[in-house]
Amino acid sequence: MSNKIKQKWLFTPGPLSTSKKTKEAMMVDLGSREEDFIKLNQLVCKNLIKIASAKNYICVPIQGSGTFGIEAALSSVLKKNSKILIISNGEYGRRIANICKKISKKYYLLSFKEDETYSLDRCENFIKKNKQITHIAMIHCETSSGILNPLADIGNLCKKYKKKLFVDAMSTFGGIQIDFKKNNIDTLVSSVNKCLEGVPGFSFVIIKKKSLINCSGNANSLSLDIYDQWKHFLKNGQWRFTPPTHSVLALSSSLKLLSKEGGVIKRYNRYKKNYETLINGMEKIGFTSFINKKFHSPIIVSFNYPRNKKFNFDFFYKKLLFSGYVIYPGMLTKKKTFRIGCIGNINSLVIKSLLKKIKETLLIMRIKSL
Ligand SMILES: *Cc1c(COP(=O)(O)O)cnc(C)c1O
Repeated sequence: MSNKIKQKWLFTPGPLSTSKKTKEAMMVDLGSREEDFIKLNQLVCKNLIKIASAKNYICVPIQGSGTFGIEAALSSVLKKNSKILIISNGEYGRRIANICKKISKKYYLLSFKEDETYSLDRCENFIKKNKQITHIAMIHCETSSGILNPLADIGNLCKKYKKKLFVDAMSTFGGIQIDFKKNNIDTLVSSVNKCLEGVPGFSFVIIKKKSLINCSGNANSLSLDIYDQWKHFLKNGQWRFTPPTHSVLALSSSLKLLSKEGGVIKRYNRYKKNYETLINGMEKIGFTSFINKKFHSPIIVSFNYPRNKKFNFDFFYKKLLFSGYVIYPGMLTKKKTFRIGCIGNINSLVIKSLLKKIKETLLIMRIKSL
């Protein structure tokens, strides 16, 4: 294999482009039992809680990508007699249902169209009719389409009907301010390699301490058990199994950069500008976005395949890839789309250079109008 792998810009839903500083932070080998590493871990978790301004919540990191974190949290939070209502308008909502099925946890799946946000009336009626529901799961930004779902509204329903709210905030935590108290969040799962701009390696669960204490003995997995993981951290500050040392180092650097940028609000503004630059530029070229702007997140955009028959996504994708720009295929069930992410260590100038490359690529494809 060639040892010359070219650096590229990532416009994907994760992993994302990371800063040089964050990559450099990994240039050290740490042992899992070292005092330095244990302290670093504690600091990183403390800072994640700080970002969440979540009082009386605990942050439990878990090895693996975001899905591992979701599975660990569901497995640990749900008891034999719990039943979770999963509100879904896309792939990640369905994934929660798939996990529950695999790990034999009771659930209902309430599905909405991929280009529509949740209907609160339908949610409320469903909750009223099904008294067994103990938890409600939702996806904050459904990264498969780019739609932003109404966290506060579902949070209010949870308060009204005394249900525990479980949020997949994988692609928003660190990029969109989330108020834990106001939104009645019981459990939230996110990953270090999305808006926090760290490198892949682990995900984390931020959960009310009272609820975490209740998780004892629930998990039907040894490794994906946030209660046991937490207990182990309390005992000696160490991860239960081999820790993602380099990823923790990277996160510690990327959290410093987040604070230097001015925190989540300032990061949100950068992503929003990326998003606006992208969507305006693409519309000028002739592309249309799948999600209506009034529901759109500044995280990622799904673009419809153009009608022009000369447009071949594989060719388009590969041309951009060879120029150093990585975009992503779509993930929707009914419509052909491709996705371009707005998050990661990129700014609107990088988006502009991508737009320029896209125009050049269309010319190479001999496409004059879409
Ligand atoms: C990225 C993502 C996940 C987790 O995906 P992994 O590939 O396991 O990291 C889950 N939910 C949402 C909304 C995501 O964006």
